[in-house]
Amino acid sequence: MSDWLTRGLDHIWLPYTQMQTAPAPLPVVAAQGARIRLADGRELIDGISSWWTACHGYRHPHIHQAVEAQLAALPHVMFAGLVHEPALRLAARLAALLPGDLERVFFTESGSVAVEVALKMAIQYWRNKGQAAKQRIVYFRHGYHGDTFATMALCDSGEGMHALFAGSMPDQIVAELPGTSEMATAFDRVLATHAERIAAVIIEPLVQGAGGMRMHDAATLGFIADTCRRHDVLLIADEIMTGFGRTGRMFACEEAGIVPDILCLSKALTGGTLPLAATVARRHVFDAFLGDDPAAALMHGPTYMANALACAAANASLDVFEREPRLEQVATIEAQLRAELEPCRDIAGVADVRVKGAIGVVELAGRVDLNALRRRFPELGVWLRPFGRVVYLMPPFVVTPGELATLTAAVRQVLAERAATLP
Ligand SMILES: *Cc1c(COP(=O)(O)O)cnc(C)c1O
Repeated sequence: MSDWLTRGLDHIWLPYTQMQTAPAPLPVVAAQGARIRLADGRELIDGISSWWTACHGYRHPHIHQAVEAQLAALPHVMFAGLVHEPALRLAARLAALLPGDLERVFFTESGSVAVEVALKMAIQYWRNKGQAAKQRIVYFRHGYHGDTFATMALCDSGEGMHALFAGSMPDQIVAELPGTSEMATAFDRVLATHAERIAAVIIEPLVQGAGGMRMHDAATLGFIADTCRRHDVLLIADEIMTGFGRTGRMFACEEAGIVPDILCLSKALTGGTLPLAATVARRHVFDAFLGDDPAAALMHGPTYMANALACAAANASLDVFEREPRLEQVATIEAQLRAELEPCRDIAGVADVRVKGAIGVVELAGRVDLNALRRRFPELGVWLRPFGRVVYLMPPFVVTPGELATLTAAVRQVLAERAATLP
């Protein structure tokens, strides 16, 4: 083993990892397209795009060149009182791409912080309008919005990964996704009952990600947006996972024809190269912060916000979306995922199969030995990381049909092997 690996492993603390029992992490030395190369020379086909970021695959030459050129000119400068071309160009482009008058962009460096900023915007929006009691946030069961304290409070506390901290988090209001007419009435009642105390509803449009990869339809999303408007509650769309083509449109909100008051982006924003996030507000939200009173301004400003390298990468990623047929590739991936994952329904221990855009999910029943699954996939030449009860695929959009077939075959094989061990 290399020196850096043996020495370093005793000093690193990995995320979401029981360090005593988890499989040893695999040392990566390079990545190209949809493939990750390990230190021992093996190549894994990446089925999850490095936590859903690497939409163009790894080392896209255009992003590479843009970051290099930016590094030579200006890697970073503070963003209070100073601005630069990569950030302003990116803000204008995001405003043009997003629906309606979502047009004011606040940059941060991670998805959780983008959501935190959205919460601050929503609460202060109402305070600036003289409705300081509107401070609570409504979130949906099985939702996920980040790992910081305010965002943990919006993750499903009952069974989620954050239950441990329940006592230290703000108390927010959980609702069920209104998928039936009775549930629609119930959701309407939640907003009607608490409207004077509610600042905003937050939702991952169409697909809930890290809380369990559950899907809802555009009509449900449309109903939620409509209900928020009727009860004078802001709607925050957390498109950190769904944004940039993952569900089949550039943004999931487009499919329902809705314009949320605030929208959060991160993950695929830089094509999986550098950390960057954006919280985008509609004009009326921004306008509520204007006036003579300095205290009406938005009080937030991460040190590395709007990092020029990250903004250059994001601009280059948007160029690539314009030049290459990403959404067509997503449609092709969707059809192949449907065809090749559907047979999993016949495997014992499979509870459900669902597909939306370039997201394929197999939900398991019974006891799930995550470590065993996570150990097995790399042996078959693929990189997948099941969590909770789901084995899921979210490949780079440039994955070839052959590579995707290898990924889905590995899923079928590993689940069949598991079926043979079930009681
Ligand atoms: C990943 C994710 C976040 C948190 O983003 P980080 O960059 O990990 O802080 C928030 N919301 C959704 C929907 C996500 O998928």
